[in-house]
Amino acid sequence: MSRYLWDTPDSLRTLLCELVSWESQTFTKGEREFASKVQAKLIELDYFKNNPDHITLHDAGLGRDLVTAMYKRPDVKETIVLISHFDTVQTEEYGDLEPLAFHPEELTKELFKRKDDLPVEVRKDLESGKYLFGRGTMDMKMGLALHMAMIEKASVEQWPVNLLLVTVPDEEVNSAGMRAAVKELVLLREKYDISYKMFLNSEPTFTQEPGDTKDYIYTGTIGKIMPGALFYGKETHAGEPMKGITANYIASFLTQRMEWNSLFRESDLGESTPLPVSLQQKDLKTQYSTQTPYRAAALYNVFIFKRTADEVIDLFEQVAQEAVASCNFAFKSICEKENVEGVGTVRTIRYEELIHYAENKFGAEFIGKLKEETFKNTSWDDREKSINLVDKLMIQCYELAPAVVLFFAPPYYPAVNTSRDPLVINSVKLMKEVASRFNVEVNQIHYFNGICDLSYVSYMDEDDGWTAYEGNTPVWGETYSIPFTDMLQLNAPVFNVGPFGKDAHQRTERLHIDSAFIQMPVMLESLIKSMFPKRKNMSQHSMNKIS
Ligand SMILES: [Zn+2]
Repeated sequence: MSRYLWDTPDSLRTLLCELVSWESQTFTKGEREFASKVQAKLIELDYFKNNPDHITLHDAGLGRDLVTAMYKRPDVKETIVLISHFDTVQTEEYGDLEPLAFHPEELTKELFKRKDDLPVEVRKDLESGKYLFGRGTMDMKMGLALHMAMIEKASVEQWPVNLLLVTVPDEEVNSAGMRAAVKELVLLREKYDISYKMFLNSEPTFTQEPGDTKDYIYTGTIGKIMPGALFYGKETHAGEPMKGITANYIASFLTQRMEWNSLFRESDLGESTPLPVSLQQKDLKTQYSTQTPYRAAALYNVFIFKRTADEVIDLFEQVAQEAVASCNFAFKSICEKENVEGVGTVRTIRYEELIHYAENKFGAEFIGKLKEETFKNTSWDDREKSINLVDKLMIQCYELAPAVVLFFAPPYYPAVNTSRDPLVINSVKLMKEVASRFNVEVNQIHYFNGICDLSYVSYMDEDDGWTAYEGNTPVWGETYSIPFTDMLQLNAPVFNVGPFGKDAHQRTERLHIDSAFIQMPVMLESLIKSMFPKRKNMSQHSMNKIS
């Protein structure tokens, strides 16, 4: 009998199907149960039978856990962290095939029977026999299966490097799993006295355009941040429109300037960020009336490569000031034409200024109560809580109106890029070389454009640029936080190499069989082996030879 459980294409495929069959959509019971199932599976390995305390579950909030499993080689400090997420997106889009979404072999067979209903590219892939369909096959239970196989191989063959498997929930929604893992990574480093060499994720390769068959390696990940604005005008009756100013009118000036604003575009290494766009703009009236809507809110999606929260809010403020100036100008000329006074000029205020002002006016205790009222409402998500708190504060401080309050709403994914790191440069070369043995072309992308958990490691920020985030995020420290200071300590390079697949998050999600079960194990093994620490006496020996 083989000493290995997961070292052949067939056994890996069986492992993948088992992981997929443990349904784990974000926020479901399956997601809550997944961690202990992984733990039980890993305990099947002799190494963890002998070292059960090397596998630990850690709280990731809402009854969910993340798993860390450590293959520790005595006297070795260098540690490669293998990062994956085990939650998946929903499955409604499978329709009557939904019960099979988590059973790849059956689903693939069933789809074959109805292949004529499928889009041409999907049908071709199905007929080729080269793809396995199912929710989570590609994104990203295969990545987890590969990491489990690597840790098995390392432990049986006693590789001279430590491997720390970290698999987390909630990647698809809020990354609560990864944000909790960061703290554990710092603690584990102290506990085992180890150092991190690389954060290796195995999210799948995403195609860049339809029909794309190239593999991609990602050596960084794009960031995303969400500036928001609360517009507070002056109410009036629709019959007397010039006695007020609607929040919708003010909002229109800012949204016009935020959408597609190229000031927010960043470029690096030949790649650039998509332009910003609004994700929400609504007035806060809950029912129809002829009172004008005097409170509104908007949220804007901003992608980042290098900018910190501090830089983004500076820019956002600049754009808001321009918007407000032009709103004031337009409003003034209407007032002149109508021969009325108007309701004053609109100002911009940052959330941190507003809260400071409100605390001075009412005292910290009263403001604490307002916060508590907002945060205890469990039917609101973090966006709604943010808007609601700013709204409550402005209602109390209406003398500041008309005004636009600028704030941040979760989530925030900092950008990370380690393409210039020598280890990364060599690893890219190596991956291209190994892939070419399989006749596969591998391209490098510097910023993974799909948003991923790597945002929370290898954080770089020399000027405390995150403090602007803490200060301007209404839900900060209450229902949302990011472990910036721990993240600053996790400064090893990031690298993403994973299997080829197509149509993640669609009912045609599918994994390329050869890539997953044949090529990837070889690629990951070569990558890890290339990072084996050089033995000191060996390098001394070769140095002597050279001199
Ligand atoms: Zn994913």
